[in-house]
Amino acid sequence: MADVVVCGAGPGGAVTAALLAESGHRVVVVDGEVFPRFHIGESLLPLSNPIFERLGLDPKSLGVQSVQKHGVTFLSECNQRRARIEFKGAPGIKQPETMQVMRAGFDQLLLDRAQAKGARLIAPCQALGVDFDRPLPRVQLKDSVGREFAIDCRFVVDATGRKGVLARQLGLRRMDRGLRKAALFGHFKGIPFQDGRAAGDIRIILRPGQGWVWLIPLPGGVTSVGFVFDSGEKPKDLAESPSACLERWMGQLPLLQPFMEKLEVTNQPSWESDFSYSTRAYSGSNWLLVGDAGSFIDPVFSSGVLLALSGAVDAAGALDRALGANLGRGRGLLRAYGSEQQRRYRFYRRLVLKFYSPGFQEILFATESWPAGTRALVSALGGNDRPDMGTRLRLEALYLIAWLKNRSLSNR
Ligand SMILES: Cc1cc2nc3c(=O)[nH]c(=O)nc-3n(C[C@H](O)[C@H](O)[C@H](O)COP(=O)(O)OP(=O)(O)OC[C@H]3O[C@@H](n4cnc5c(N)ncnc54)[C@H](O)[C@@H]3O)c2cc1C
Repeated sequence: MADVVVCGAGPGGAVTAALLAESGHRVVVVDGEVFPRFHIGESLLPLSNPIFERLGLDPKSLGVQSVQKHGVTFLSECNQRRARIEFKGAPGIKQPETMQVMRAGFDQLLLDRAQAKGARLIAPCQALGVDFDRPLPRVQLKDSVGREFAIDCRFVVDATGRKGVLARQLGLRRMDRGLRKAALFGHFKGIPFQDGRAAGDIRIILRPGQGWVWLIPLPGGVTSVGFVFDSGEKPKDLAESPSACLERWMGQLPLLQPFMEKLEVTNQPSWESDFSYSTRAYSGSNWLLVGDAGSFIDPVFSSGVLLALSGAVDAAGALDRALGANLGRGRGLLRAYGSEQQRRYRFYRRLVLKFYSPGFQEILFATESWPAGTRALVSALGGNDRPDMGTRLRLEALYLIAWLKNRSLSNR
């Protein structure tokens, strides 16, 4: 018997477990994989820093391999247009430096912290589902040799990421038809980083009408390369291996062409598709969803890990008080948690939808023309999803300009 079973030990699950264990709850974390393990999602945002502090962590000093990230560089497909933003000085961003990380080491660090605070880890161990037709929820599990067993608990947290074991069991997931995208990605050596302070930037290459490409500089001279495009484009290339397809696409990009001959694959390319979705509810009387298990939006602004971390902080806070109030009286707290996740999700979804419009992409290459609006945009890109009134109004003004640009572009 545990107070809380957390299914999934990625950033969302590990941080929820760490904070609940710190508050004295008996927490069991289960994960289907052996850590450290590869995970996509390497570019972090500055607003993660206060959460690391809250956990008493300094990922850099604790040996997580990382590259210092000061900003974002946007590039046009033929590499003729370039714009760069830095997080420094943006409203609401007090610690502007952030990191590009190998997720294996980063996720391991968070999981170690959960265990150090007293959470018990069972891995590799698959969560199969939860039986709610009992006085207490019973989490059904399967270990690495196929042996099934169960743990009773007062509360279940689904942090199984895109798998969303409980979200799917309860029929909560709502796919986002407005953002049906797929990604093909891998790790390569042989692509030079940018110079100076831009060396650690994520580079976003815009391919109007076709999607976009990320280049994320990682430790050891590795670059994470990912193409994001409409899901409908994927089947045409299914006959080809992900590796051959990615290298073919990379060879068509003027920025990468010169390096293709000496390219070295350090992590085999793979696909992900239809990764934007939301949920009908984030919590019930004895369960909640954290991180990607609840919702996820297109990765263009690298918001996924931050949303999982900040969701975990909120989930642990609400759940700690709800467990103290014997759950019955804690329902309002859990509902408030869900409303906050919903608000964050909508904030980023709106920003992502703007990104896919030509008018907004024009603005990205003309940031010097809209300095106040750009500062507001940089604040949001740094992870500030609760901007002050002035910043919010400037962001709205920027959206309006993008809308007007879209209209004039479509009238041409
Ligand atoms: C193509 C792509 C690019 C991305 N790029 C970025 C980026 O640059 N920056 C960024 O911040 N985010 C990015 N993301 C998003 C980021 O990867 C996620 O938002 C983040 O990992 C969410 O953390 P989580 O803890 O919710 O889930 P996860 O990190 O996915 O962790 C879930 C865990 O649950 C475990 N699990 C799954 N099923 C079961 C089961 N049945 N039983 C037990 N355990 C289970 C898994 O093994 C895993 O360890 C990207 C996502 C995609 C798809």
